[in-house]
Amino acid sequence: MHVHMIAPSMVKAARDGSTLFGVKFGIVNGRLSSKYGNDERLQGYADFAAGLATRLEYMDLEGIDRQIISLSPGSHRNEMDPSDAIPLTRLYNDDFAEVCAQHPSKFKAFAYLPLQAPDAAVTELRRTVEELGFVGAILGSHVNGIDWDDPTLFPVLEAASDLSVPVFVHPVRPRGRDFLRPFHLRNLIGNPLETTTAFARLALGGVMDRLPQLKIILAHGGGFAITGIGRFDHGYAVRKDTPSIAKEIPTEYVKRVYVDTVTHNYDTLRLVANRVGIAHVLLGSDYPADMGQLDPARWMSAAPNFSEAEKQAVMRENIEDLIGPWR
Ligand SMILES: [Zn+2]
Repeated sequence: MHVHMIAPSMVKAARDGSTLFGVKFGIVNGRLSSKYGNDERLQGYADFAAGLATRLEYMDLEGIDRQIISLSPGSHRNEMDPSDAIPLTRLYNDDFAEVCAQHPSKFKAFAYLPLQAPDAAVTELRRTVEELGFVGAILGSHVNGIDWDDPTLFPVLEAASDLSVPVFVHPVRPRGRDFLRPFHLRNLIGNPLETTTAFARLALGGVMDRLPQLKIILAHGGGFAITGIGRFDHGYAVRKDTPSIAKEIPTEYVKRVYVDTVTHNYDTLRLVANRVGIAHVLLGSDYPADMGQLDPARWMSAAPNFSEAEKQAVMRENIEDLIGPWR
């Protein structure tokens, strides 16, 4: 379920060198570039324009029947002015809806939301779920430095809970970029740190108490949240400032979250599965990122420390339990 795509409108705009709602697209050294104000970004992977045919070929080759697509995190731009961001978000989601309509047996989608304008994000979440058949939303781990227990963001989570669709919390623009600059640490440490922080704010910040039905998926096996939960629990027991809002010890909140399999380590995945419960582990690839697990079905099938029944649950059954039957 952890799979990315860039919107076909972006590819077209890049080829044309055109501008969509203030974002100037182009191609630089074979990579898709996008510029909003002074912020120019290059897509991380060069095969941005490979298109659906290549994706379908890859899926066939890897034995992947279905993907839940979500906008590539490098293309999330929650810093944009809402007057540009809101229509751009709608365009991207309409693009994804078209991809799903072309191949309904292969693709479903998570919505991308204009989180800098929470009211509009709620409207767009309702539109995509109720009118376009989306099965949830991808949420950046923070919104321009604002964390997920901030009251301004609560209506977005409340809407997802009301609609009974999961939110997929994914790292974006890791903070601490300066000290994490060498060795790709911005990704190796920064990304799981972001996911861990989002979990901590949702759990310790009381959001999970207020929304007991909210379904939360954490990227990359939960980052460091689950493997590091002992430290959270100890802090909850001995510190006065840790349990200020949350009603239960952090371990209890871990049991409620869902995670993907993108851990690159069977022992780590086993530990995570033991904590969240096997029914909350979902096959993911992070396609097409180089840091992804691009052969997820083969990788999971070869896991020496999971039973056949557990593998089937992770690769097939759990996702339908979460989002409903794939029609
Ligand atoms: Zn990802």
